[in-house]
Order: sequence, then structure tokens, then C-alpha cells
Amino acid sequence: MSIIDEDLNKFSLKLDFYSLIVSPQKKETFITMSLNTAHFHTNAFPRTYSILEKTIPGIFRSKCFNDEDLPFSQEVLNTEIGHLFEHIILEYLCQIKLQKGAKKALYKGFTNWNWKKDKKGTFHIILYMNQAEQEIFAEALDKSIKVLDYILRFGDKISSDKLN
Ligand SMILES: [Zn+2]
Repeated sequence: MSIIDEDLNKFSLKLDFYSLIVSPQKKETFITMSLNTAHFHTNAFPRTYSILEKTIPGIFRSKCFNDEDLPFSQEVLNTEIGHLFEHIILEYLCQIKLQKGAKKALYKGFTNWNWKKDKKGTFHIILYMNQAEQEIFAEALDKSIKVLDYILRFGDKISSDKLN
């Protein structure tokens, strides 16, 4: 008899601006993001759009389901950092899957938060993907962290562009 712990692959990451608890399950991966920044929305990081344009322009073609039905290119100007992070990961998942030879790539995600219940700046992100795709996910997560770190570090500074 063997007992399989579904949370066996659960791990946490502590970064400069936020921490992540990642819990890969069979059909979806759960991420809890806890920001320790002073701001939780992209409007405090006005360079978000241009940084994304330089790093992952494909993100602007992603579909976004938001209350006001705005295209992601508009929504991104003032959205929750957790929601932005979800879109960045989804875009990288698609890119990496295609790079690995897939003909099509489609990933869905969802971000919610309840700051009455959780500490302000906490987000719950669900990514719908199979556990078998953990390798793609690990790569996507790594790249996504780099982009988000750059946004949180330099996205509020209007002048000087250090991004290559
Ligand atoms: Zn969205």
C-alpha cells in the first residue's frame, strides 16, 4: 500500500517583493502570492506596459475576462499585481510549450483575492494545467519571476531604461 500525498510537490519561494506558495495538483496548480510591496496595483508601476512590450509582447494577445470587458492591453494599466502575474505565467507556458514543438498551446488561469479574510496583497492564482507539465511550468515560473521582479523594482521609475 502506498499513500500518495497530493501536496508532495508543494514548495514555497521567498523573494524580495513577495513570497509564493506553489501547490501543483493533478489538473491545476495553485499559487498563493503574498506581496510585501507598498502598492498592489500596476498603476503604481507606470512602466509595466513598456516592460511587457519588450519582454513578452505576446501577452497583449491573451484574452482577459474582467468586469469591464477591457482588453488586456488596457486592463494591464491598472490591475492587481496577482492578476498580472497570472497573465505573465500563462504567456510563458504557451511560449515554452510551442518552443518544445507543440502545434497549439492554450492555458487558462484565474486570480482571486479576499483582503477581508487574507492579509492585503494576498492573491490566489489557479492555473489549469496537468501535473505532467511541471517541467514547462518550472521554466515558465522562473521567467515570470524575472519579469515581475523587474516591474516591481524599476516599473515605477519613469526615466532610464536598463532593460536590454
Ligand atoms: Zn485577465
